[in-house]
Amino acid sequence: MSDFAHITRRKFLATAGASAAVAVLLKGCVGNPPSATPEATTAPVPGPVAAGDTPETPTIKLGYIPIVESAAMIIAQEKGLFAKYGMTGVELSKQANWASARDNVTIGSGGGGIDGGQWQMPMPHLISEGIITNGQKVPMYVLAQLNTQGNGIAISGLHAGKGLGKDISSAADYIKGFQANQGRKFKAAHTFPNVNQDFWIRYWFAAGGIDPDTDIDLLAVPPAETVQGMRNGTMDAFSTGDPWPYRIVADNIGFMATLTHEIWPFHPEEYLAIRADWVDANPKATKALLKAIMEAQQWIDNPANRAEVVKICSGRNYFNIAPEILTPPYEGKYTMGDGKAAFDDFNAGPLYWKDPKGSVSYPYKSHDTWFLTESMRWGFHKDQLTDFDTVQRLVDAVNREDLWREAATEAGLTADIPANTSRGIETFFDGIKFDPANPEAYLKSLTIKRV
Ligand code: CA
Repeated sequence: MSDFAHITRRKFLATAGASAAVAVLLKGCVGNPPSATPEATTAPVPGPVAAGDTPETPTIKLGYIPIVESAAMIIAQEKGLFAKYGMTGVELSKQANWASARDNVTIGSGGGGIDGGQWQMPMPHLISEGIITNGQKVPMYVLAQLNTQGNGIAISGLHAGKGLGKDISSAADYIKGFQANQGRKFKAAHTFPNVNQDFWIRYWFAAGGIDPDTDIDLLAVPPAETVQGMRNGTMDAFSTGDPWPYRIVADNIGFMATLTHEIWPFHPEEYLAIRADWVDANPKATKALLKAIMEAQQWIDNPANRAEVVKICSGRNYFNIAPEILTPPYEGKYTMGDGKAAFDDFNAGPLYWKDPKGSVSYPYKSHDTWFLTESMRWGFHKDQLTDFDTVQRLVDAVNREDLWREAATEAGLTADIPANTSRGIETFFDGIKFDPANPEAYLKSLTIKRV
């Protein structure tokens, strides 16, 4: 465990302990006898922790990966929002990589691991089914989406001028010809198999007519090793998230072929998910966490606060990078390189609370369905993900949008609650449509697939 930075904000223990005490005092005042002063019989102004909403426990250990996806958890901690809702003992634990996060949630905080935190999709579903945990089923609940976008596909500078942009159909022969011309296949990396960054680059390759399983080598490689490979000519492409895209271009290692925002505007990205046993035992604490995350997400999406988001997240306790590296993505500014126009659009970068398509924070069941359908497309977990009934069963077991709704209602955010658990039909850059009500039609419409 020594490789994890454990951060406990003890200063909030004192503050929130004090507000809890005040809440108890106010509650006591309501039933005061008539002899009390007029002021005392006035109904107290409701605080963030209403009477009866005190969390069952103020402590939880949440894992995070130091990329922009984790910002809402970090801001909720640093701006005292967890504490405001009574969660005075939240510990954020930096995870070395996604495999560590998976292993740590399997053992839980009681065993020295974590209770939940930040996840790529569909990790919570796969862990729940024991699919990526050696058969050990650890039921988890998806509670909120942490962010949208903020990811992209970077290409080694050696391939400049070859037509590697959003649509790579004109570069398909160049990529497929690698074996004949270079003596090895075109090599691409992501950070963990069968989750978001694997899906984004697979979708992009396949839309350009390149089969990611046969025409190229696609592997899980640690980011630092990938970037080194892009420098020395042994790695060609990297499906990655902010702040890596900015660093790769700024350091002249390569260019951006495309942003995930271009592949699927306002696509689902990473999620808050927690072990089901923890949530079932602590429903009020779960909603307190959600209210804090929601408030953090709203705060982050205010452009006036982004400079402070950069300052906090880049700090030594969290991402430990120069703040200048985080500023451009948080302003929606992306230098693409290789002759492509730069982005200067706040809505092209990571968003946390709302986007032009609706709620970012609300965990749409239709997006879980896409991640599991895309898993079927590529033949991932084909012994377990056998049909759409299984997909639906898993989505219904793991996605707890009902808890998000309850928390949003308690927080007075009823206007921000989506009317439907589906965001409706999704359209990708190549014209392909995903209708969550008919995922089979989506699979049929795809040319390159394993089913
Ligand atoms: Ca990501």
